[in-house]
Amino acid sequence: MKKIRTRFAPSPTGYLHIGGMRTALYAYLFAKQKGGDFILRLEDTDRERLVDDAATRIYDSMKEAGLVYDEGPDVGGDYGPYVQSERRDLYTEYANRLIESGDAYYCFCTKERLDEMHKGGATKYDKHCMRLPLDEAKKRVASGEPYVIRQNVPTSGEYTFHDHVFGDVTVPYADLEDNVLIKSDGLPTYNFANVVDDHLMGITHVIRGVEYLSSTPKYDLLYRALGWEPPEYIHLQPIMRDAQHKLSKRYGAASYKDFINKGYLKDAIVNYIALLGWSPKDNTEKFDMNYMLENFSLDGLSRSPSIFDEAKLRWLNGVYIKELSEEEFYQYALPFMEQVEYLKGYDLKYLAGLLHSRCESFADVGDSKYFTEMRTDLDLSTNLTEFLTKFDSLTPDLFVHAKNKTNADVAKDMLPDLIRLTEENYGENLYPALEQYAVSKGVKKGAVLWVYRIAITASPVTPGGATEMATLLGKEETLRRLNVALGKL
Ligand code: GLU
Repeated sequence: MKKIRTRFAPSPTGYLHIGGMRTALYAYLFAKQKGGDFILRLEDTDRERLVDDAATRIYDSMKEAGLVYDEGPDVGGDYGPYVQSERRDLYTEYANRLIESGDAYYCFCTKERLDEMHKGGATKYDKHCMRLPLDEAKKRVASGEPYVIRQNVPTSGEYTFHDHVFGDVTVPYADLEDNVLIKSDGLPTYNFANVVDDHLMGITHVIRGVEYLSSTPKYDLLYRALGWEPPEYIHLQPIMRDAQHKLSKRYGAASYKDFINKGYLKDAIVNYIALLGWSPKDNTEKFDMNYMLENFSLDGLSRSPSIFDEAKLRWLNGVYIKELSEEEFYQYALPFMEQVEYLKGYDLKYLAGLLHSRCESFADVGDSKYFTEMRTDLDLSTNLTEFLTKFDSLTPDLFVHAKNKTNADVAKDMLPDLIRLTEENYGENLYPALEQYAVSKGVKKGAVLWVYRIAITASPVTPGGATEMATLLGKEETLRRLNVALGKL
């Protein structure tokens, strides 16, 4: 049996976007689960769209996500990906073969002529230059006249090919155009380079976006004209932002890196991306690379577009975050906490411990709406920013709590004891000390903790319990606040 070989063929025009990463992931999984090879090929022949560093950004994201490619040209002892602009001579050689066999022809039409033609209502090239005798065309080429090479597509009949997602697809030749194969700068277009490269690189399965589905008959014609066997095709449905719009840079974050920067974990992103167009037979939603390698199959690919749902990614990310150890969470969350002005000066490690179970993204640590969002069970007007800064607004009526039978008078009575208990037991012993105090007073634990919490935060809801807040504030600040509270009663 032939060794399975797939490829990912990005154009270096920016960061690796979610759609590209999904293609790369599926191609990687399909090859690797069958002991095959996964190839990376940089499609950089459209020189106007190139972006500096884009190639490096793409490799870095792939590497980070675990999508390691298998081979490529030697780049000083290591191997790099295949780069189309470095393979220019190859394409010329095969284009010349097509010219000789009549499957392609030189075209000298100027931009003005093409514009005229389109103005006159033509929707595709009119094969004007195909009628030139080859000898004459070659003379014009030799004289230095600018030219392109076009594919000669039949004008009648139809072509049927098989796709693993779309089944048998039939396209009338009349729908196709004599596309440019080699541009006037001598470089190939995608329409030609993909065929030459997929053949020379021994690609057995082409996995790519659906936008190439309707052009596939043209590619197959080229394979056949060159005496080659076309590969198998797997065209993927697009990822949408909603029913009308494709997910794109214009509509919010769309690159892998954007999501990392927004506080998502790479494993959660890759997991979620896998679900955008593929579902495992057992409908599992949370899985790792090993699971995907075992379970990925072309049968599970979706026949309809998928909608990118960031709320679902957030939820999944939250599940991954909860599985992190305290230390891991702290390490991931730290850079995000450090960017939050109002957290400066607090014990971030301790705060991370409080936030761990509540975050669905690391960026939540700095989101001022975070606590109101997370605690939908409560009618909150508070959030972390306010919690840390609103203490000054403490008023006696905040102590009123009907169920705990607490109010300003109760608070006034308790606070001197709470100050003493804090001085004596600040730290791990504070909580048991407050519990014991409640027993000695014959009140519910909640009544004491309520007074304590309000006294040091002026807030009915806080990111952690009363004593956790005390730890976060530090002994000195806790005592200062308890005393200020007492003074206000
Ligand atoms: N360079 C093409 C793109 O980025 C690749 C398409 C393919 O995989 O063949 O869309």
